Parts: sequence; structure tokens; C-alpha cells
Amino acid sequence: MTILEQTKKLLSLWEQPDYRYRQILHAVFRERVSKFRDMTALPKGLRQSLEEELGEGVLTLRPVGESRSGQADKLLFELEDGGRVEAVRLHYKKGWESFCISSQCGCSFGCKFCATGAMGRKRDLTAWEIVDQLLYFYLRGCRLDSVSFMGMGEPLANPHVFEALRLLTAPELFGLSQRRITISTVGVPLGIRRLTLEFPQVNLAYSLHAPCSELREKLMPVEKRWPMEQIFPLLNAHIRRTNRRVFLAYILLKNRNDSPAHAQKLVRLLRGNLRELPLYHVDLIPYNKASHAGELFVPPEPQQVREFLRVLRQGGVSCSARTQFGTDISAACGQLCAERKAN
Ligand code: SF4
Repeated sequence: MTILEQTKKLLSLWEQPDYRYRQILHAVFRERVSKFRDMTALPKGLRQSLEEELGEGVLTLRPVGESRSGQADKLLFELEDGGRVEAVRLHYKKGWESFCISSQCGCSFGCKFCATGAMGRKRDLTAWEIVDQLLYFYLRGCRLDSVSFMGMGEPLANPHVFEALRLLTAPELFGLSQRRITISTVGVPLGIRRLTLEFPQVNLAYSLHAPCSELREKLMPVEKRWPMEQIFPLLNAHIRRTNRRVFLAYILLKNRNDSPAHAQKLVRLLRGNLRELPLYHVDLIPYNKASHAGELFVPPEPQQVREFLRVLRQGGVSCSARTQFGTDISAACGQLCAERKAN
């Protein structure tokens, strides 16, 4: 149980009025106060009791390492049971701050190019463990302009993610607009349906990474269980219901899936969904070397990325190539593994 959950329980055990917990939430989320002793709206005795029972502050996750590089900071957190997860803060020159958070400790999906997948799944994070990653940055004064579930784990395989979305969007807590949040998934049918119904304005990104089932299966074992032909109808339904863009993440791996022929195949695949095509956007991600993969996968040549984009655009597909930050501290896509203490 996280500190804030324990706080609520203790207040009720001590028969404190309901508004005490609201005062604590107000101190944390409006005034960015992290320590019980500084929550001056509470009686002194109560502040002391909370500190004696729960320790100084409201954060449950313990930061145990931080790496910094240009526009990316990577935080390594330790969970109560000793498990470790990572979160990344990206800060842009114009002041925009974007956060990439983890939803699971490890991951069971085993995508071949992903360092988290090589760890195997340890466990799902609870809703508060997910949002605590952001609370850490928030209490340090960061602006939470956008948040993506693209860190460790498959978010839609963890049912607690829906509660985390509620906490992130609750006006009395973070108060984030759904449109500032992105869920990235390898395609978990039940989770996609639930997201469409319960959080229709949250951005949805599908990790495609291949233009056909045969190749996808080699890179992502999930294709056997939930093939793309089962997922596209759900994405189309999401577009029709929400009228929102769906992002298709495509990691470019040299000589594996990055040729013009692959790009043409991708155009044909997407043109099979003509009605929804204008609301699909392909997000190309040049591969970042991951510690577990050795020389198995190699980043594409810049010329190859440009050519891929050209073919997609010529085929009438909306697309862009992502600029990566933090590759030198293993903070970019596919590199998170909480393997060691960050520097
Ligand atoms: S890419 Fe996502 S789903 Fe695949 S192994 Fe990595 S964390 Fe898991």
C-alpha cells in the first residue's frame, strides 16, 4: 500500500473527519508540499502522528538513481518489495515537459528488440505506484505537460492502469486532461475496448513495428496471440467512436523492416482501412541499441528513414520520424530495464 493510501486508512482509524484527507491532497497536489510536517492546515499533533507512523513524506517510491543527458533525465525507483522501475522526463527548449512512465515491473510480452521484455514480468504496478512516478517529478516543481505509458511494461495488460488514469485526470489530484496522456500498447483487445469506452480522449498508440503478420510474429511473439488482423478492427472502432487520431509506432530496424518494400507493404496494409486512414499516423522510431540485444538489431541509416517516410507520404499515409533523446543514458524507446543503479 502506498503512503497516501495508508494515510487515508490511518485517518479513518483515528476517526479524523473526512476533510483531513482532502486537506492533505490539497497540500500535495495544489501546494506541492511533500512532507507531513509542512502541511500547516493540519493540527500539529496529527502531523507528528502521521510522520511517526509513515515517515517524513508522501512518496512511496524511493528514487535510487538518476541519469541526466541533454534533454532527458532518467529516474530509477525502488518499489516497496525491492523491485525497480524507471521513468523518463523529457524537457524541450520551449519549456514543454513530457514524461514516460512504467506500468509493470518487467514485461511478459518479450518483444525481441526491447530491454524490458528481456527481463520477464515481475509484477503489475498498483495505480498509486504508477502515479507516484509522476508525483516525484511534480513535487520537484516539474510541469506535467504530457504523460505517456511507454516505459516498462504493457499498460493494457495491467488493469490498475485504468485506476491510474482516473487518478491522473481527477480534478482534485493531478487534473490532467485525457488528451495529454498516451497509452502505448502491443494490442491487448480487452484493454483497447475498455480504453475506447472509459477514456475515449486518451491518445492510443499501437506498436505495429512490421507491415505484415509474418514479420511481426518474428519480432513480437504477441502477434500469435493477438494478430494485427484482430486489432485493426478495434482501432477502426476507436477512431469511429472518438474521432481521434490513432498512432502506429514503427521501430525501424536495419535490414529487418526498414526497406522501401516494407514501406510499400505498410501503405497497402493501411489503405485496407480507407475510411479511417486519415486518422492513422505512423510514428517511425529509429531503433536504439538495447543492452540485451548485442548486434542482433542495428539502427537504420538516416537515408533509409527518409526514404521510408517518402514512400509512406507518397502513399497518402500521415507519418513522422521521432527524434530520440537520452540514448546515451539508455532512456529512449526500448532501452529501459532498471538493470543497474543509474549514474
Ligand atoms: S515493447 Fe512493451 S510490450 Fe514489448 S516487451 Fe517491451 S515493454 Fe513489453
